[in-house]
Amino acid sequence: MIRAPAKMPMKRVGECDLCGDCCRTLSITASLSNALKQHRSLDEIKLYYSHRNIRVAGTNPEKDYLFIEIDLPCGQLDEKGHCKIHSERDKLPFLCQNYPTAPDDIENCGYQFIPDIIPKLSSSSQ
Ligand code: SF4
Ligand code: SF4
Repeated sequence: MIRAPAKMPMKRVGECDLCGDCCRTLSITASLSNALKQHRSLDEIKLYYSHRNIRVAGTNPEKDYLFIEIDLPCGQLDEKGHCKIHSERDKLPFLCQNYPTAPDDIENCGYQFIPDIIPKLSSSSQ
């Protein structure tokens, strides 16, 4: 994956090869402040969630985000790990139709994000 400067626009290239790697883990963005109210500290959140097989993947205190992940394969995966309904757009959830919309941590995803740089035509070359 190419890392571009923070505000540089990115565009998606490539295609889904149906590897199913994005379909085995459920990622949820929760409210960090709510979780801290319940558990008192991030360490306590991690401890409690670890007993429920939930990972704390990170936080963004500025946006009040708590990122959690659960190993929970989608019920629509077939025995080969491919989505059974991928070609049935009326059944495929919105998220799945559009994923990924931004760089994610899935190493072997068939999509990549590259800087969206439109070359400017130079008037001096006329
Ligand atoms: S519906 Fe299909 S694409 Fe969406 S998570 Fe399930 S297996 Fe993956
Ligand atoms: S990780 Fe990427 S290539 Fe694999 S199923 Fe998901 S979107 Fe498709």
